[in-house]
Amino acid sequence: MTEAKIYVDLDGTLTRTELLPAIARRAGLGEEMQRLTDETMAGRVPFDMSFRKRVQMLAAIPVETVHEEILGVPVHEQLLDLLLEHRERVVVVTGNLDVWVEPFFAKYGLVGLSSIAETEDGRVVGVRHVLNKSTALDRYPSAMSIAIGDGANDAALVRRADIGIAWCAVHPAARPLLEVADYAFAREEPPVSVPATVVVNAAGLGSRLGLERPKALLDIAGRPLIAWQLDLLRDVDDVRVVLGYQAAEVADVVFGVRPEAMVVLNHDFASTGTAASLMRGSVGARGRVVSLDCDLVVHPEDLRHFIEASEPVLGILEVQSADPVYVRVVNDGAGGLVARDFDRDYLPGDFEWSGLISFDPASPHLGSRRGHVFELVRSLLPMRAAPVRAREVDYPDEVELMSLWIKDLIAEGCFR
Ligand SMILES: [Mg+2]
Repeated sequence: MTEAKIYVDLDGTLTRTELLPAIARRAGLGEEMQRLTDETMAGRVPFDMSFRKRVQMLAAIPVETVHEEILGVPVHEQLLDLLLEHRERVVVVTGNLDVWVEPFFAKYGLVGLSSIAETEDGRVVGVRHVLNKSTALDRYPSAMSIAIGDGANDAALVRRADIGIAWCAVHPAARPLLEVADYAFAREEPPVSVPATVVVNAAGLGSRLGLERPKALLDIAGRPLIAWQLDLLRDVDDVRVVLGYQAAEVADVVFGVRPEAMVVLNHDFASTGTAASLMRGSVGARGRVVSLDCDLVVHPEDLRHFIEASEPVLGILEVQSADPVYVRVVNDGAGGLVARDFDRDYLPGDFEWSGLISFDPASPHLGSRRGHVFELVRSLLPMRAAPVRAREVDYPDEVELMSLWIKDLIAEGCFR
């Protein structure tokens, strides 16, 4: 065992294009190759079979021609630069052929694992061995493994790694990969400034709406709910969206609106509560975290107070829901409110818990991570409470009310 290692895919991860289609274009076979490659990356055609077929298509092309193409292919420069800073920890893991990709490894001084070609007279005539990418972890063992890939054929490696990352910069998220990844990214640029981290909890089933699709995708005034939500967070650099149920479909929408967002996967969404999703989404946050449920749309002026808050603050609502958790408040004597406790039973003067809170995820006083967010943060009370203008959607009859709320916010000029 050695220190941490990073296992990174080549085509579509380090490179900005797939190599085989680029090579095929030179031979006038671009279209057919692209179609087969897309089908393979999405997991609809088995990699092994598809790869052998694609190699056959390119067999007539001299190896030197392929080398020219591979050395000229555009790369994700920031990702590559970052990896080159830790060159000795990096293993490039590619299903591509050794005789084709070796010049790429040599150019950057990187260790690489690849499939093995059969060659004759400087031409590839077949495939001797197709690499099973997950074996990289056995051949280059490490105490801590980080795997990054973009296609369905990276899924086994990403699943086995301690930290698995789905790279969605070139292709939309491959579903088999998102089913096993811990994180997904569509941009290489990290957040620049961090006034706050916002974690949007969107992993759940939304079962009370009875839609068989996640609440995040609920059509509100012509857009998925999560798109409105992310639009309101456009000034926040560090936005993490926690996904679980139908994660690939929601990730497509998330990256469509906010390509630089971080997607955090909670595959245990069916057996864990929102507290578990929130804590997963908070890993690595550099300060306070604002927790926001994807079904709650907060007026952006009120939301801003939470993003800029330097002290913990809890968002409360005038009671509007059918089955809320109540927040017991007292006046602080200076015109403000302090939350004292949560309760399932209503007492006059209670507010409704909104799910919105700015808190310190590193606090040693956090409670249970197995249930709801209010159970996680209850032990942080008393805490300043701030009433917010917001609407939540849990039940079918609230969908129309949410549409009206969004239309109010549109009329106020709150969206781009
Ligand atoms: Mg790839």
